[in-house]
Amino acid sequence: MLYATLAEAFEKLEQTASYLEKNSTIVELLKRTPAEEMERVVLLLLGRPWPAYVSKETGVGLQQLKKAVAMASGYPLTEVEKLMNEVGDLGEVARRLLTKKRQVTLFSEKLTVEKVFNKIKQLPDITGAGSVDRKIDSISELLTSSNPLEAKFVVRTVLGDLRIGVAEGRLRDAIASAFDTSPEKVEHAYMLTTDYSIVAKAVATSGEEGLRKLGVSVGHPVNPMLAQRAKDIDEILERMKEKAAFEIKLDGIRVQVHKDGDEISLFTRRMENYTSMFPDIIDPLRKALKPKRAIVDGELVAIDKRDGKPMPFQEVLKRRRKYEIEEAAEQIPVEIQLFDVLLVDDKAMLDEPYTKRRAELEKIVQEVRGRVMVVEQRVLSKPDEIQKFFDYAVKIGHEGLLAKDLGAGYRAGRREFVWLKLKPVLETLDLVVVGAHYGKGKRAGVFGSYILAARDEESGRFQTVTRCGSGFTDKDLKELTKMFKKIQLKKPHEDVDIEIECDWYFEPRIVFEIEYEEIQLSPEERHTSKMGLRFPRYLRIREDRRPQEITTVNEIEELFEMQERRKGKRA
Ligand code: AMP
Repeated sequence: MLYATLAEAFEKLEQTASYLEKNSTIVELLKRTPAEEMERVVLLLLGRPWPAYVSKETGVGLQQLKKAVAMASGYPLTEVEKLMNEVGDLGEVARRLLTKKRQVTLFSEKLTVEKVFNKIKQLPDITGAGSVDRKIDSISELLTSSNPLEAKFVVRTVLGDLRIGVAEGRLRDAIASAFDTSPEKVEHAYMLTTDYSIVAKAVATSGEEGLRKLGVSVGHPVNPMLAQRAKDIDEILERMKEKAAFEIKLDGIRVQVHKDGDEISLFTRRMENYTSMFPDIIDPLRKALKPKRAIVDGELVAIDKRDGKPMPFQEVLKRRRKYEIEEAAEQIPVEIQLFDVLLVDDKAMLDEPYTKRRAELEKIVQEVRGRVMVVEQRVLSKPDEIQKFFDYAVKIGHEGLLAKDLGAGYRAGRREFVWLKLKPVLETLDLVVVGAHYGKGKRAGVFGSYILAARDEESGRFQTVTRCGSGFTDKDLKELTKMFKKIQLKKPHEDVDIEIECDWYFEPRIVFEIEYEEIQLSPEERHTSKMGLRFPRYLRIREDRRPQEITTVNEIEELFEMQERRKGKRA
């Protein structure tokens, strides 16, 4: 296939902003592309001769590229620079200068996609003495056989700045329409391979059957499976049919480990290659993973040398800066806790149920204490046992628990209700009960939710913060209703600021201890404190608290600020 075909399509793509037009240009191009060229064409469309997860650069800077343009066009470097100052895009400079080319080429063969692709792909391999000049020569040779339009896109591709606006989502849709399949099927294949060039080739060669045959393979990161959030233990047991596997939820970096013989690679959740970032964990992983080839999923955590406890997430990320890596590896050792397996030798495990994958994981990992472990797990069905495990996880410094559906496969790239995270809540609040609503269904006849208030220090008034209908046992609901019935009022109490209509109101007297996940500044419901709580949960009555001693609006504001600071650090 001639590179000119590609360059013309690129030019068309650059010229239009319309989604439909872009789409049809890509579809047309893909349809014209022979199957054996498909991978190269798709990668070049995305702007690099490597899939996104390969962290390679051509290593050619703007200055060197200017020299290559000067050589190929026969114009002096000063002329290239002058024009560059005017148009600001070296691709465009190359196009213009080659249009009025001074140098006459003796013979020039037509550029093929293959030639451009290979030449650019080989650039990082040119190393050693004189490598800069050899790179310039190589590009200049390519530009010499280019027509002006081709030169524009060769230059931009080498710079890693193609500017034709082809994002991966667009490519997915175009592949689907070019080869008569659905975007969902294309996307699913992408989730397994993380490489649209492979996906396009498979569907171009053997249609949907080709997509179905695509699987995971060592060296290609798989889009990781993600978790939904659970409100509470009840929700987990309901969704997972009364029984689930509970694993410690660690706070670190998600990593997918690929083992191929002696070679170990690490990929992050965004499928960046992080292998060089954590040199100290590579050898332990090599030893721990018994199969010749494997893909396993886990969390990389930093360990505090002083007490052996996990350190906050941001400590792990400190190791990102290259010059700090070795020093950090000394100071903050990392440990990997594995929780899933996607491939063992040539057998893909994704469609196996959780229980089978977990058993396989335990089989293939020879734990290296303090470096490579299998995450602690229990299969539980009793709420109090789950609560205990949760409290234990939090106490030893982890984020909470992850509940996993025993029968579910590994759903690459999906966030579904078969993995549910149960995270700890912040500090508990003591709030006074000022109103209630009758429950529905199973809770008919009793108060199903309560409106809770904090105290405004200046005015001494009670301002509402949240509605809470969770955390009560059936017995709680009955007893509380009986108790509140005795003090119910038809109208809000005079000390209370409330804008929510309740079935009954109460004198602010009884204090609940409430846990929650997050403080919100503008909750859905209108609260007079102007704040709200996400996932509030009743813990108990605070007999020892008088309404004058409850949490103040000010304190909640402070907690909110702390929470935001903490989030900021994590972002
Ligand atoms: P979140 O980032 O809050 O959506 O929670 C999901 C993340 O928790 C995953 O992407 C992992 O990085 C992390 N995680 C920690 N422990 C586990 C575990 N046992 N199983 C799965 N994911 C875990």
